Amino acid sequence: MKETKNKVIVIGGGLAGLVSSILLAKRGKDVLLIEKKTYPFHRVCGEYISNEVLDFLKREAIYPDFLEMPSISRFEFSDTKGQKVRISLDLGGFGISRYVLDEWLYQKAKFFGVEVLTGIQVSTVDFDEKTDKFSLSLSDHSVLEGDYVIGAYGKRSKLDLTLKRPFIQQRSPFIGVKYHLKMDFVRDTVALYNFAGGYCGINAIEEGKFNLCYLGSREQLRKFGSVEEMERQVLWKNPILARIFRESEFLFEKPEVINEINFEPKKPVENHILMAGDAAGLITPLCGNGMAMAIHSGKLAGEALLSGQNRSEIESIYAQSWNAEFRQRLWIGRKVQRLFGAKGVSVFARNLIQHLPFFAKQIIKNTHGKPF
Ligand SMILES: Cc1cc2nc3c(=O)[nH]c(=O)nc-3n(C[C@H](O)[C@H](O)[C@H](O)COP(=O)(O)OP(=O)(O)OC[C@H]3O[C@@H](n4cnc5c(N)ncnc54)[C@H](O)[C@@H]3O)c2cc1C
Repeated sequence: MKETKNKVIVIGGGLAGLVSSILLAKRGKDVLLIEKKTYPFHRVCGEYISNEVLDFLKREAIYPDFLEMPSISRFEFSDTKGQKVRISLDLGGFGISRYVLDEWLYQKAKFFGVEVLTGIQVSTVDFDEKTDKFSLSLSDHSVLEGDYVIGAYGKRSKLDLTLKRPFIQQRSPFIGVKYHLKMDFVRDTVALYNFAGGYCGINAIEEGKFNLCYLGSREQLRKFGSVEEMERQVLWKNPILARIFRESEFLFEKPEVINEINFEPKKPVENHILMAGDAAGLITPLCGNGMAMAIHSGKLAGEALLSGQNRSEIESIYAQSWNAEFRQRLWIGRKVQRLFGAKGVSVFARNLIQHLPFFAKQIIKNTHGKPF
């Protein structure tokens, strides 16, 4: 039976938003999810997902088992000159496009009783201490009331401006670019190839396709005027990337591109909103752990709402569990990113992986969580 009191509104239907709303709806909560886009759609993301999420997805009956997904158990790294090294991954992961995964979870959310509004953006969120309720204004000029709000709106939104979150004032030097390809590449490997100013990930996804996604520099894009020219002038300097760009079949008419990718620390609870996924903190993409963290934090937000007896208890349960699970991972991710995107340090990182694989595995372990 659905509870009619304690309405939960979830802002943003990426992994964190979809997972938290499914968890809550399955346990009888009245949940409304608001997503500004309409499914299915592509997102800039490397689409390598750590196996730490497997048990949870299967337990909650939201694992996309209708698909054959590549299982990924090796990691290949190259410095900016194209010198490679390869190691095995202890936990590993699998590849799936966000186009397919988010659509699957969206259908599951509706199936489990989540009310979903798509194509509508939340413009403002206000909390009234007197009534102890949230008021949300939407892009269609309607206003909604809710008892609890999960902010799962991703790495950056206009809402961060209205909430005056400190990181939103800073400009980020990074851009993200994604393609789907048909190419000649091993399907059990996630690769990370460095180039000046960034790094490029490649791994298999469903239906024999591959994802190529890189974190590049806004300054270089400005300098070369177009994504294509920047790729030729910068990424192609790594001979492995030059070959891949020349020989692969690109399946998108144009790349998916985003900018303003900020890795600064954020708070997991702001203005009584439980922030989940990237809205609470974005781990550097080289860790390949952002999707697992979004799923895990969506789970933690749902669990805090289910177990806390009142607002302050819910907020404290969530903040504590979020900090225990993710704060250190995000910090290590920021430090490790310094080993990428420059000639000298990428050669150092390659040597480190080659000669001290145990140390490299420890770094990977520390930027990932345990199966949950
Ligand atoms: C270049 C790059 C490569 C990456 N590669 C990987 C990888 O290989 N593996 C990995 O695990 N992670 C990777 N990540 C990280 C991963 O993509 C994110 O951590 C993950 O998508 C976060 O999920 P989320 O649910 O928090 O946010 P999102 O998936 O971004 O979802 C947020 C949703 O909120 C919606 N929204 C925003 N504002 C509003 C609003 N006001 N009202 C309504 N809806 C709103 C958006 O439309 C969006 O659908 C990568 C990130 C980048 C930048």
